[in-house]
Amino acid sequence: MSWRKRSNSDWLRALPGVTEDEPLATRTSFGIGGPAEFFVESGRVEAIERTIAGCVERDIPYLLLGAGTNLLIADAGVEGLVIRVVNRDHSIEGTRVRAGAGLKMMRLARIVADANLRGFEFAIGVPGTVGGAVYQNAGCWGREMNDVLVDVAGFVPGHGKQTWTKKDLHLAYRTSALREGSFMGALVVEATVHLQRGDGEEAKRMMAKLTAERNETQPIKTKNCGSVFKNPPGDSAGRLVQAAGLKGLRHGAAMVSTLHGNFIVNEGGAKAKDVAALIERVRAEVKRRFNVELETEVELVGRWK
Ligand SMILES: Cc1cc2nc3c(=O)[nH]c(=O)nc-3n(C[C@H](O)[C@H](O)[C@H](O)COP(=O)(O)OP(=O)(O)OC[C@H]3O[C@@H](n4cnc5c(N)ncnc54)[C@H](O)[C@@H]3O)c2cc1C
Repeated sequence: MSWRKRSNSDWLRALPGVTEDEPLATRTSFGIGGPAEFFVESGRVEAIERTIAGCVERDIPYLLLGAGTNLLIADAGVEGLVIRVVNRDHSIEGTRVRAGAGLKMMRLARIVADANLRGFEFAIGVPGTVGGAVYQNAGCWGREMNDVLVDVAGFVPGHGKQTWTKKDLHLAYRTSALREGSFMGALVVEATVHLQRGDGEEAKRMMAKLTAERNETQPIKTKNCGSVFKNPPGDSAGRLVQAAGLKGLRHGAAMVSTLHGNFIVNEGGAKAKDVAALIERVRAEVKRRFNVELETEVELVGRWK
């Protein structure tokens, strides 16, 4: 690869806090995947922006990492630099809430309930960060980021700091211009959401109820990545997988959950290639039985070839 030169490795090694060959599996909810060639974790926005700009200038591939709850990282790991974004500051002004990209959605859901704000209860079902939730337009129980977002502060290498409206981000079902579009590779720095005044205790009761219901219908306490597939229009991926008789299907230590067809569970020591093989088997069978092409919601990253 063209970026592999001594001067680039020296630049990477000189980054404050950088490590090499850093395990990533423990930084994902799946518990799967090889190491990052180079790894850095930072909550300092200016430093992250400088690092991204430096990577782009030098053609060094980089991957932004949040809570790792929507990723299947290849067994061979990730080439270049993995940057874990952990800026977790937040502020509340009236009904507007600004949150750093590294703050967990679940944590923010509790913070805003404590502030007697309503409309963010859905976030209790999203274990990722605010940055990952913007990237993915994450949502749950019929609500998604698109419903609450005001704007997003971001950084585009070569163009600097920017503020994006919802329209700029082209938020759609589990995607955005950050995932597929003009802002690929850009950094979400922080997001501002607009909520309603209300009874925070009621919000907490509602979140507890939703969580309890979910614990009964989804294998939340296992190692998994949430929904593996997007729901096809007018249907549910879980229903199709179940109707195809694929619940419990195994490949190595990866298994289609017996509780919910749209979850794949790492039973312990599963390889990324096991999960990828299982994904392909499920897609092929659902296509054969129902002529529906399932699209993955989980993102496959790293050295797959
Ligand atoms: C048990 C479980 C339940 C789940 N339930 C739901 C659900 O109900 N609804 C739902 O939508 N999702 C759900 N998910 C999936 C996941 O939590 C969301 O997709 C979440 O938005 C991912 O955020 P993350 O921080 O983990 O991102 P990661 O998995 O770390 O990264 C995902 C993508 O986001 C990008 N990214 C992360 N941070 C930034 C940033 N600061 N700037 C730019 N790009 C960034 C990464 O580069 C990567 O491409 C679930 C996952 C699990 C494990």
